[in-house]
Amino acid sequence: MEDFYSLSRESVSEILSEEFSLPAYRANQVFDWVYRKGITNFDEMSNLGKEVRSRLVERFHFPQATIVSRQISVDGTRKYLFRVNDGIEVESVMIKQPDRMTLCVSSQVGCGMGCRFCQTATMGFQKNLTAGDIIRQVLAVREDAIQFNDDFSNIVFMGMGEPLHNFKGVSTACSILRDEFGIGIAPRKITVSTVGLVPAIKKFMSMDFGVNLAVSLNATTDSVRSAIMPVNDRYSIDLLLSTLREVPLARRKKVTIEYVLLAGVNDTKADMERLPTILSGVKCKVNLIPYNENAGLGFKSPEESLVHRWYRYLNDRQIPTTIRWSKGQDIDAACGQLKTRNDTQSLNTISVVN
Ligand code: SAH
Repeated sequence: MEDFYSLSRESVSEILSEEFSLPAYRANQVFDWVYRKGITNFDEMSNLGKEVRSRLVERFHFPQATIVSRQISVDGTRKYLFRVNDGIEVESVMIKQPDRMTLCVSSQVGCGMGCRFCQTATMGFQKNLTAGDIIRQVLAVREDAIQFNDDFSNIVFMGMGEPLHNFKGVSTACSILRDEFGIGIAPRKITVSTVGLVPAIKKFMSMDFGVNLAVSLNATTDSVRSAIMPVNDRYSIDLLLSTLREVPLARRKKVTIEYVLLAGVNDTKADMERLPTILSGVKCKVNLIPYNENAGLGFKSPEESLVHRWYRYLNDRQIPTTIRWSKGQDIDAACGQLKTRNDTQSLNTISVVN
């Protein structure tokens, strides 16, 4: 039995043609039933022959995510804990903004990148999610959103894990998310965020999904970056930024440079002045992220006035810059605060649905 949610339409089409001698458009029909009509029972797919339907039942299944808990922040942000697969639990966050809702999904259980300031890193790498595990988070949030009378308009791979360290799962999920017969979200509304794995960035961008790329730079010198992001020992700032100068980008498209401001570490005046220089020639915008403090990791949030100073300084130098103020901090749902426990009995959650 194969997990249907782990397969791109192309793969389904291949299976249907090789094993069932069906023409390619049959995959469009099955995708339409599953993703647009929400039908996961082949017997209800009335435009398929009876004999084919009974064989399809034996070939694919549709495991669903169960919501273990859902917490709601005072700002309307919702954090979900899902069981996506035998015993695998991950978090997703629905972030409420005035003009849209963004769904932040996880790509791994834990993370192996070891960024010193990030809560997920303390779990270490545990497991890659399959494309199906990622799609299940999206479908379950969409269904749960009905009762809140909302839905997400954007999806970001900024939950637990390093998306480009789970290349297959994330690239297949992107293909299903942007597929007009699949989840059907415009690629410009999907963002994959990476610590800066250079070979994977090149490969991902060459696949031309049209989704946005965000890169967590977080420092302006190699010594500081290596101290907070071990990945910098493999892929230096120079190498990373020269890669970004060369990756194929659609016209008018920009890479998002994420910069977490850590008080006294990477937020000095010299850093601020260096940033436009090192970014020269990179088609980018900057997203400043005031650090959300995690107990025990030893980093501090910057003063609000300093965040504004950076914002003005960069915008004045023709670098389009935004600030990502934290959302869902009261439920530990903010950037870099996601962490699941291995022992599900000890979960300290507020509301349990179902
Ligand atoms: N692994 C990917 C995506 C997950 S983290 C990446 O590193 O890009 C998404 C963003 O949150 C990254 O820019 C990361 O640097 C930032 N981040 C991590 N911990 C944070 C924290 N405690 N406060 C604010 N941002 C944080």
